[in-house]
Amino acid sequence: MRAAVMEGIRQPLVVRDVPDPTPPEKGVVVRVEANGICRTDWHLWMGDWSWIGLQLPLPHVLGHEFCGVIDEVGPGVTRWRRGDRVLVPFSVGEGSCEWCRSGHHNICDTMLTPGVVSWGGYGRRAGVPFADVNLVPLPESIGFVEAASMGCRYMTSFHGLVDQAKVGAGEWVAVHGCGGVGLSAVQIATALGANVIAVDIADEKLAFA
Ligand SMILES: [Zn+2]
Ligand SMILES: [Zn+2]
Repeated sequence: MRAAVMEGIRQPLVVRDVPDPTPPEKGVVVRVEANGICRTDWHLWMGDWSWIGLQLPLPHVLGHEFCGVIDEVGPGVTRWRRGDRVLVPFSVGEGSCEWCRSGHHNICDTMLTPGVVSWGGYGRRAGVPFADVNLVPLPESIGFVEAASMGCRYMTSFHGLVDQAKVGAGEWVAVHGCGGVGLSAVQIATALGANVIAVDIADEKLAFA
């Protein structure tokens, strides 16, 4: 398959042929149709997260904000078939630790984020483990480009505003920092009926907000 490959820290990505992935444990291979670019990719590419133990073995294929169509289904997967449209959340869990069982895959004992611990969505195909626990069905009515952002920045903001803060109509919400997560928060808070104040030091981000 073709992939945009990270060959070195702070080096331009190289588009080239790499081996096709095979389904990881209880997983599938997704044909990637769209992938969001995240600040996390930049941190990984800069090599500045070694202090939290993240040192990518190179070459590496980044990308943890992707969606697409299931291309291959591995053993032990029961919920999905080849051809299903799916969204891949970055917070992939193995489904059986105490965090996963309480619905908190984002703090799973085993870090499994595609594009970080395995090759991700900057390639034409990407393996996603424990597909039954993690994949989200993507309706035909939602395009791949729109969906690509939902598995990282969007659900991060959604969880904060809806599950944690329980923002309601008529409340005031100040969003400090209008990058990917912040702009998603502006949209979600607006959809909830809140009055939103967007705060940033960059004019072009405020124009988006
Ligand atoms: Zn991200
Ligand atoms: Zn877990």
